[in-house]
Parts: sequence; C-alpha cells; structure tokens
Amino acid sequence: MKTPFILALFFIGTIPFAQNHCPILPNPVTYTSTKDSIALDSLLFCTKSLSSTLSNSISPLGDLYILNKNKPLRIGREDGFIRFEELNNAYPESYSINVTKSKIILSYTSPASYYHALHSLFQLITEKPDHSFSIPICFVKDFPNFSWRGLHLDVARHFFSIHEVKKYLDLMAMYKFNVFHWHLTDDQGWRIEIKKYPKLTSVGAWRDSTVNDHFSTYPRTWDTKRYGGFYTQEEIKEVVQYAADRHITIVPEIEMPGHARAALAAYPAFSCTGKQQPVPGLWGVFEDVFCTKDSTLHFLEDVLEEVLSLFPGKFIHIGGDEVPKSRWEKCASCQNKMHALHLKNEHELQSYFIRQIDVYLAKNNRQLIGWDEILEGGLSPGAAVMSWRGMDGGIAAAKEGHYVVMTPGSHCYFDHYQGKSSSEPLAIGGYTPLEKVFEFNPIPKSLTPQEAHFVLGAQANLWTEYIPTFNQLTYMTYPRAIALSQVLWGGTKTSYDAFEQTLKKYHIPRLTAPNVNTKVSMSFLKPSMKFSREPNGLSLMFDGKDTSEKITVVSQQKKEGISISYGKKLFFNRSQKNVKHEKFTFSTACCTDSLTIISHRGLGAKVTYVTPPNERYHPGDLILVDGQFGARPWRGYQWVGFDTNHINITLELDRKIRLNGITFGFLNEPSSWIHLPNEITVRLDNGKMKTISVTEERTKLPIKGKTKSIQVSMKGLPTIPVGFPGQGEKPWIFCDELVFE
Ligand SMILES: [Zn+2]
Repeated sequence: MKTPFILALFFIGTIPFAQNHCPILPNPVTYTSTKDSIALDSLLFCTKSLSSTLSNSISPLGDLYILNKNKPLRIGREDGFIRFEELNNAYPESYSINVTKSKIILSYTSPASYYHALHSLFQLITEKPDHSFSIPICFVKDFPNFSWRGLHLDVARHFFSIHEVKKYLDLMAMYKFNVFHWHLTDDQGWRIEIKKYPKLTSVGAWRDSTVNDHFSTYPRTWDTKRYGGFYTQEEIKEVVQYAADRHITIVPEIEMPGHARAALAAYPAFSCTGKQQPVPGLWGVFEDVFCTKDSTLHFLEDVLEEVLSLFPGKFIHIGGDEVPKSRWEKCASCQNKMHALHLKNEHELQSYFIRQIDVYLAKNNRQLIGWDEILEGGLSPGAAVMSWRGMDGGIAAAKEGHYVVMTPGSHCYFDHYQGKSSSEPLAIGGYTPLEKVFEFNPIPKSLTPQEAHFVLGAQANLWTEYIPTFNQLTYMTYPRAIALSQVLWGGTKTSYDAFEQTLKKYHIPRLTAPNVNTKVSMSFLKPSMKFSREPNGLSLMFDGKDTSEKITVVSQQKKEGISISYGKKLFFNRSQKNVKHEKFTFSTACCTDSLTIISHRGLGAKVTYVTPPNERYHPGDLILVDGQFGARPWRGYQWVGFDTNHINITLELDRKIRLNGITFGFLNEPSSWIHLPNEITVRLDNGKMKTISVTEERTKLPIKGKTKSIQVSMKGLPTIPVGFPGQGEKPWIFCDELVFE
C-alpha cells in the first residue's frame, strides 16, 4: 500500500518550476528559479535577532496561507533557516527573497516591505498531499509601481460587521493593497459614531425598509424589516490598528454635500427645507442635500474633528459626487450666500462649500480627496481627485497639478457583472470581466510623464446596493481584485492566460480553503458564447478553457438534448412564419446556463448603424437581431447605447420577406439618464412609411409589406426634462432587439 503513495509524493516534490512560472500574485519584478525545490518542516526557524514587532506578523500569515488547519506552518525564533536583513539605500518598499538549499534570506527596506516579502514567501510555499511543505529554490526581487493600491467598501447601503471588515483587510493584505477606502456615510445609512451628534447613529444608522430586486424593477416591492448598524469609536480604533498592522491606511469617507439623507433624517435643520424625512431604503440620487448655510458647515467641521481623531491617515474623502442643485436653487440661505460671495451659479456654490472643508482639513494637516465632480465650478487648491466617471476628470486634475486616483467605472467598479451567465447574482448593471480589469492601465496616454507623476494609483469600488452579505462581497471582489493588484503592483507583465493559470492553480484553492473560506467567482472559467451571422439566421459557438469537455444542450420545448463540442456551431434559423420563443439550457461540468432565442424573420439581418452608437455601448452589429432582448435589469454588454437624439439604422436581408410589423426593445431608466425615444419611423423598400410614438420599453410598430431592406429612424428628447436626474443634459437612448413579426 505504501509504495505508490511515496512514489506519488516523490513525483509531486520534484515537479520542475519553469523559469518564468511564478506562483506569486501580483507577479514580482524579478523571479528566477531552478528546477529544484526543498522540503520544509512545519516549524521554520528564523533568526533570533528579529525584533518582536516584525516577528509577530509571521505566525498569523502562516495560518492564512497554509491549507491544513491541523498542522499550520509555524515559525520559531531560534537561529536558523530563515534570515532577515534590513537593506539601506534601496528602492522604497522593495524586498528580495533568496531561497537556497541551506537557507532563506529575506531582505527588506521597511516594515511594510518586510510584510510584503512575507506574503510572497508564503505564496511560494506549497503543501503536498501528506501535508508537508516545499518551496522552490528561487530568487525574488520586488517593489511596487504605484503608491495607492486601493479597495473601497460601501458599508452604508449594506452594513458589514467589524469582523467582516477585518477579513476584508486580511484579503487585501494578501494581495499587497495598501489603501482601504471606507465609505462610512450615504443616504441609506450613517455608520460612524459621532459623540457630539448621537442622533446620526441612533436615527441615521437605521432604515425601516429596503427596496427588493433591482431598483428599476416595477412595480417596486419592499422588505419592511428594520435594517442598519454602526461602528462605535472604539470599534473604529480597533479596525484602524488592525489595518495599520497590515500596512494598510484607511481613508474614511464622509459624504457631502450630497448623499446626505441619513444625516438629514437625524438633523433636518442642516437641509435647505428643514423637512423631517426618513432614512431612505431606495437606491439612487436624492434631491435633499446639505444646505450651504454656515450652521451646516460648522456641523460638518464638528463631525470631521471626531473623524480626524480616529483616522491618522493623510487623506480624508469628502465625497462630493452626484449633488442635485434643485434645493439650492430654491433656498433663500443658499441664494443669499451665492449673491453675497458673487458666485455665478450653483456649481460655484458647490465649489465654495468644498473649499471651506478643504481649508478646515488643511488647517488640521490633512488632505482632501473627493469624487471628480469636485472639479465642477473650480477645484479647491489642495484637493486630490478620485476619477470615477471615466478618466477625464483625473486627466484634467493631473494637468492642473493635483493628485489623482483612477477608479473609472469601466474597469474599477466591481459591483458590475463579471460573467454573462444568466446565473450570475443580481448586480447593479455593467459588465467588467476579469480580463478587462487585467488590461487596465491607470496612466492615460494623454498625460506627459510629468503629469503622470500626479496619478498616485487606482482602486476598485465595491458599492453594496446589491451586495447584502459578506460572501456576496468576496464573490464580487475576488478574483478581480487580484487582477487589479497585478496592474498596480506592476511587476513582470505576463499574458492574461498565464495570469489565469497561476490564479487557478495556486490562488483559488487558497482563497476557498477552510482556513480562509472565501466565496470567489469562477465566472472567468465558464465557456463563453459567441453568436455569428449565418445565411439563414445565426449560429452559436462555445469557447472554453477546457475544450475536451462536451456541452449538453436541451431545448425545453422539444425536451430533447444534444451534446456538442467546443468550436462546433449550433444553428438557429430565421423563422418563415410566426415568431417563436425557444428556451435552451446548456450544461457543462462546471455550470448550467439558460437562454431563450426568439426566432423571427429578421434574425441575423445585416445591420448598418448610420448613426454610430457611443463607443462604450457598442456591442456590435449583430446584437440588435440576435434573437434576444437586452436583459432587465440592465447589463452593460447587451444594449446598444446612443448619446444623440436622432438615430438612423438600416437593416438588410438577403431576400425579400413579408413583414407585419417590428417590435422594438428600449431601456427606460431615467435615474441613469436613459430615456425612451419620442417616436420611431420605419420605411420599407417600396417607400411605405409609418411613424408611431413610444411610451413603453417594448413597442410594436405595425407595418405590412414585402421588403428586403428596412430603414429605422428614432427621435429622442433634445434634453432631459425638468424634474428628472440630469435635467437639461443630453439623454441616452438604449435599444436592443428588433423583432420582425
Ligand atoms: Zn440651502
């Protein structure tokens, strides 16, 4: 019995490590290894001379990385195997690890780099099936590229306990993140104890109801359970220390002047109207914001005084995003202030407001950071900008010599979907797969090297409207955060495939092991579906990592299943008669997915966008006729989005068809500035034309005739009407699927 077991171990122990196959993520700057590895005892001895502060951080790390809970890797403090050397005059935060047959030498420049080195060291150690450990003979030299490597967490929309926040910090530390942006206040909850204003937490931390489903789902329903929570100042101090022990700085965010409904529920006197309103349980942007009167500013300075006493970091985030000006326009105090200070408009009033806070923070030796809206009406002298509405805000600020953190929605919003499967949990919308995060570059091409110097780094944001539990939080964060750490640490640039292999082989097993027990997304491993245009409709092909697998496809109408291989096409023919809806389920070893194809007369028609869609929402020219309406709630990749109010599209078939009408799919989401078009016009080959007005997301335009080509024209509103979010701005039109009846 024993012989094959030992042989197996021997085999695992001598798997050669390829020169460039580094198990550490983010990849270090330099990694070289021989084909050999050495066996490690479960008790590693390090040099006695190491200070107790440094040696104290070793053992908890062993627990975090090693899979076997019963026999964790421990590090003893006797002269021995691991030696530590402090380097002088080396690159800041740099470290090296030298593993030879007789010893491991770990060199570091600072406590933070020592800590990063330990994380890398533990990532090099692998556990064998007999629970013994080995490490490759190798050399690692490493330092980070960016100084701001951040993750954000919104604890206002959903609350996370300090135990959960600590676990979030542990995971961040594993991947060398060093900034935790703690979004502590928002409309739906105030989460930090302020002793001078106890109602902020006794009232502001609790809401009586929370909207169910996606907030764009109508009719809306509500969970009427009282929901909330907050951190006492003692708990905050504990978390600040816990983060500091992991070399993570916390940037607290106190939102102002917008996203203030929870604070105003507690102290309505600081609003423009003084009206008592509850803490809302709906997501979105609210009209009621802090009034710009002096008493509000004094209140916020009092709040910040207590915040500053808890958080020692240099940066204090004050929000500044999404501030509707409608209350200020009608408020006597705000208007008087505007005139007294000779301010041109409410944007300048917002600028004034932020500047007062900037002055207060600067006086207290801190630096203000805010979302990119703080640029509107002029940027306060000392302010740093977090660019979320794309990179333009960040570019403008860097060109003016302000520090910038890049966090564009396109790559850094981890509340977006990461997979196209229908089984992905409900998310806010958008589509940011792992590969897209991996490809992110925080330095825009339009910055000169001198200007690029002002880009401190980047961070991912975890807004939690649709993230109610910690499991869901880690599912949305990992592995995308590891791809971001790869971007920000910026060591050896590997291919995405190599990154994915390292992730799958070394990191997913660790993150999901019992001692870490984290739910992570495996969406990146799911086969992707690719639709193509065919002479008689369209085809679907699966592309996957494991192409030896078979996929079973079952039509729910026919109840029969077929098995197809990767790379083989499944055909969907254009219907000659009535429109047919057919639901399919697809099963592979890892997952099951479903899809409904609407077989209609225009399936796979040639589409020409005479008016080009906005490049951010341009998923190709097949999407309008691929037999699927864009998903509700909105997912970024399924809709064609136009930022103009006059749209022309031509559709062409290979031969004449008899048409009875076209059903159009539109998105109506005024909260996201997306409106229905006012009217649509369809013109056939023979000049026959019909126009109808649009009042619903699904609108049928009846028109009879034989035709080969169809011209569609849509007209929208020139500007967003008064009373809607973004009033006066240009609205968007989102369209998906034109079903030919
Ligand atoms: Zn006011």
